[in-house]
Amino acid sequence: MAIAIPRRQLFIGGEWREPLHGKRLPVINPATEHIIGDIPAATAEDVHFAAEAARKAFFSNTWSSTTGAYRAKYLRAIAAKIMERKTQLAKLEAIDCGKPLEEAAWDMDDVAGCFEYYADLAEKLDSEQKAHVSLPMETFKCHVLKEPIGVVALITPWNYPMLMATWKVAPALAAGCTAILKPSELASLTCLELADVCREVGLPPGVLNILTGLGHEAGAPLASHPFVDKIAFTGSNATGRKIMTSAAQHVKPVTLELGGKSPIVVFEDVDLDKAVEWTLFGCFWTNGQICTATSRLILHESIAAAFLKKLVKWCENIKISDPFEEGCRLGPVISKEQHEKVMTFISTAKSEGATILHGGAKPQHLKKGYFVQPTIITDVKTSMQIWREEVFGPVLCVKTFSSEDEAIRLANDTQYGLAAAVLSQNLERCNRLTKALQTGIVWVNCSQPCFCQAPWGGKKRSGFGRDLGPWGLENYLNIKQVTQYFSNEPWGWYKPPSKL
Ligand code: NAD
Repeated sequence: MAIAIPRRQLFIGGEWREPLHGKRLPVINPATEHIIGDIPAATAEDVHFAAEAARKAFFSNTWSSTTGAYRAKYLRAIAAKIMERKTQLAKLEAIDCGKPLEEAAWDMDDVAGCFEYYADLAEKLDSEQKAHVSLPMETFKCHVLKEPIGVVALITPWNYPMLMATWKVAPALAAGCTAILKPSELASLTCLELADVCREVGLPPGVLNILTGLGHEAGAPLASHPFVDKIAFTGSNATGRKIMTSAAQHVKPVTLELGGKSPIVVFEDVDLDKAVEWTLFGCFWTNGQICTATSRLILHESIAAAFLKKLVKWCENIKISDPFEEGCRLGPVISKEQHEKVMTFISTAKSEGATILHGGAKPQHLKKGYFVQPTIITDVKTSMQIWREEVFGPVLCVKTFSSEDEAIRLANDTQYGLAAAVLSQNLERCNRLTKALQTGIVWVNCSQPCFCQAPWGGKKRSGFGRDLGPWGLENYLNIKQVTQYFSNEPWGWYKPPSKL
């Protein structure tokens, strides 16, 4: 598929700028292993320029002190431009991170929808200003102001490059913050196009700055920069810990959307075909690289044999191909390193005594590219790495259960707490599980649907804070208490000095 890869620079203060050290990083198409372009690599000096530009924009009267309705116009203009460019953006996303083109096109709809949604919330923010607080003393009156928190650093991963960026950029701008976005070095092409969209719609300079580059060279100095008032991070647990350490040193607020090892619990009363499809979608969607992938199948023992037989048959039917091929349902994982990591997970599971029921290798018909067959692993023990650690690839591990209590115990047997799915026709049972599952998200009779109106985030080692919905906007607001004394009488706590 021929697609032009624009050669972009860093986007700082509303202008394109070469990185100060002139460094660029190759862009590799994971389906072909070919270098298809390059991206600029920011370092600490570029981060400083971007932080200065964002701070200047924050304290000018062009953004943070404007009305929500004013900012909403820009958000809607960005959404409209994204829809205009949808085909180009979807192709860039697919070639950059390997997701099937049809999925990438969905992402672009979601991106535009998210900008529109936060435009609505920005408008609503105007009417929510000066919320009255009733106090027990009449001599005081109190109200609350919602203000933008300041300059925010938005650091994002590669699995949904444009969408994960949007989940942070849209609410941050709606709130009146100015921002510096640092997308993943493994997939930055669409975020650089977002910069171009912002330039086209005339977003005031410095309101959104976009720096591509490596985590330790660009992300780390950004997280610790003194001009940054808040860090919003989505990515791995390991990087999340580093960011939290840096935030602690500067006492900066931080939200962390980290990884998971989410369960899907399938009871004996399900419609087998429907449940099989949700199980596949829950784990293999986005080439298995989803933070909420329901990658631990907890299956009622009475249906295990029939269910697994069907699961394998459906797996054989998944089209694994270049993301641009019609009907592709599984593309490559993001990089050579990720491919090696996934294959090592599979070989470790084998060496620990698990059985590879399906897949477990590179598909034979694809000579190039970082492809992994959809893989199903059985005979899993809870002590095994495959049960405990996030793979971030198309690998599902399976355990059976015999009672509801056992299912809950297995589902919660993880250090993570991002999401879980329950499949059963018994809704009372689903409600009981919903309460018992220690996660931020529970899906009932489905897995993975995501709407920008609903909160997104986890507990335990999956992080804290919520993206999306009004909760996503609150991440970027400072709640200011304003209390006024309303009396002609003096306060009267201290005695006035006696008159001479
Ligand atoms: P990653 O942690 O390697 O990188 C994420 C971002 O952090 C990138 O932009 C990277 O350049 C940057 N970074 C790396 N080191 C840094 C440092 N020292 N300081 C500051 N920034 C640094 O994660 P990834 O491999 O890009 O993404 C995959 C992970 O993201 C998985 O664990 C997945 O579960 C998680 N994820 C979570 C969610 C969620 O909503 N909870 C969504 C998507 C992905």
